[in-house]
Amino acid sequence: MISQSIAKLVSCMGQPVAGNPTGFMMEAAFAAAGLDWRYITMEVPAEGLADAVRGMRAMGFRGGNFTIPHKVAVIEHLDGLTEAAGLMGAVNCVYRDGQRLIGENTDGKGFVQSLAEIADPANKSVTILGAGGAARAIAVELALAGARRIDVVNRSHGRGKSLVELLDNSSRLSSPVRLLPWAQDHRVAVETEILINATSIGLGDEAARVPIDTTTFRPGLVVADVIFNPAETLLLKQARDAGCTVLDGLGMLVNQGVISFKTWTGIDPDPQVMRSALEEYLGI
Ligand code: NDP
Repeated sequence: MISQSIAKLVSCMGQPVAGNPTGFMMEAAFAAAGLDWRYITMEVPAEGLADAVRGMRAMGFRGGNFTIPHKVAVIEHLDGLTEAAGLMGAVNCVYRDGQRLIGENTDGKGFVQSLAEIADPANKSVTILGAGGAARAIAVELALAGARRIDVVNRSHGRGKSLVELLDNSSRLSSPVRLLPWAQDHRVAVETEILINATSIGLGDEAARVPIDTTTFRPGLVVADVIFNPAETLLLKQARDAGCTVLDGLGMLVNQGVISFKTWTGIDPDPQVMRSALEEYLGI
């Protein structure tokens, strides 16, 4: 008899779902904590989202994760949002508060928690490559954590502008922010202390090159990647070779899972169990 369930709603969009590292990690954490809970991954097309959330309510699910393309669309089906999810306008984690379903976003928090192990973002000058969902979540949390300056570098102007406006127009966020075009190899500014690849470049391709002038890497610079598969991307390899301190995307994935787990169960999971499960799943 399963005592509680967590849903992961992904979209099939006519395609099979490519693996589920989060489910594997969560099930390992439930087992290690002695909880008879299940993490169930379900494919939900965009037009089925409203019914799927009604189903979560009806079946008493304790929460869920939501991924592309549901992260924004799910908001209208929820009863409330946390501050961070409201600022980002995107939800990746839902939890139950009595009969209410509340939307949270753990991606940025997971990143900042992982970063904090090597560098405190408070008063740091940060450059974020990318302006999609991951970049938005990270940028908002870095601003909430008191980053001194945030530069956003994005290929398409529209998405970059939208992120910069989000940061600029919020009365809660005070980090100065700039949008930099990304036409050629990006040259890391001398004042940048933390460089983050929040694009999807490198996902599933260890030879994929982030367009960046690696001669501008230097010891002391922290270079982080959101990509977790492969864990050692070409960008991180280049940064390590140049003497930078590097941070892989596995830590972000583990930490956003740790935060979700605590939100759903009230229990602190063992992060090492979760990281080991991920490494096993990914064959690292
Ligand atoms: P989005 O599709 O929302 O955004 C993708 C971003 O990458 C955009 O800024 C896009 O730029 C940029 N981009 C893609 N290809 C290129 C390219 N060839 N050159 C320059 N820019 C490019 O994706 P998400 O933000 O949701 O996810 C990004 C990555 O983060 C994914 O690989 C995902 O797996 C990873 N991720 C990792 C997590 C973790 O826990 N480690 C958590 C969440 C996400 P443009 O606007 O110009 O299209």
